[in-house]
Amino acid sequence: MVDNKHVFRSEEVIYKAAGLHYVVPEMREDVAEWNFKGNKNNLVTVEDIKGVVHNHTDWSDGIDSLEDFVMTCKNLKYEYVVISDHSKNAYYAGGLKEDKVQRQLKAIEQLNKKLAPFRIFKSIECDILISGQLDYDSDVLSHFDLVIISIHQLLKMNEDKATTRLIKAIENPYTTILGHMTGRQLLIRPGYPVNFKKVIDACAANNVIMEMNANPYRLDMDWSHIPYALNRGVMISINPDAHSISEIGNIRWGVSAARKGGLTKAMTWNALPLKKIEDWLKQKEFKPG
Ligand SMILES: [Zn+2]
Ligand SMILES: [Zn+2]
Repeated sequence: MVDNKHVFRSEEVIYKAAGLHYVVPEMREDVAEWNFKGNKNNLVTVEDIKGVVHNHTDWSDGIDSLEDFVMTCKNLKYEYVVISDHSKNAYYAGGLKEDKVQRQLKAIEQLNKKLAPFRIFKSIECDILISGQLDYDSDVLSHFDLVIISIHQLLKMNEDKATTRLIKAIENPYTTILGHMTGRQLLIRPGYPVNFKKVIDACAANNVIMEMNANPYRLDMDWSHIPYALNRGVMISINPDAHSISEIGNIRWGVSAARKGGLTKAMTWNALPLKKIEDWLKQKEFKPG
């Protein structure tokens, strides 16, 4: 006879009574969750996120000033923020020409002096051109602490073209993070087709992090690709792609999507504390080849 008192005390008990291992709500899709061998307590949580990665300010198409944005992140008790405005090819989004990049870098250095030990990382969301080349020369790219690469234009490609374009950009030694892999916008456009395994393999081979873009209209990479990335040892950064202070909170949608795919705290790049991020960037910098 079923003992109702026990059966309904918690969801865990219901699963147990049915002879199943517990599945966190985000994973309930009847696709991957039954094969999930990890420990649910290791899945990344909103509280694990130590830094706000991939943000736009009014230097390009963001709404808030650099100072207001980073002060908010500091006040929210994050340890670091990554400022990555648009590169020059994204002219429609106020992408930064080379001289403006240099001015922004100086502004960030000034703020860093004032706000230490909080750290602002100098970055850019660098367009991947149709050729797979990045939107700046190496001498400009070398000034950033890290580089996020994304496709924003010429989105009509077949799978071969898109995959080759992405891989060429991933192989650029200045690339740190691959932004929104497929360019999809949920309810708006499907994104270009990619061979996600080949792209993830390239990230693994080049020590490149993949983005879980937390904008609720993107959630790109798709959660269903996370198990393969983890299998290949690729870390994932959960990034709000904030264009205003109010969008920092989008991190939580990215965390939910990432948990659905089984992302652990250990494999979440921006769950690393500041010191570890600095070390990580150093070893990437001195990577042979
Ligand atoms: Zn973007
Ligand atoms: Zn962006």
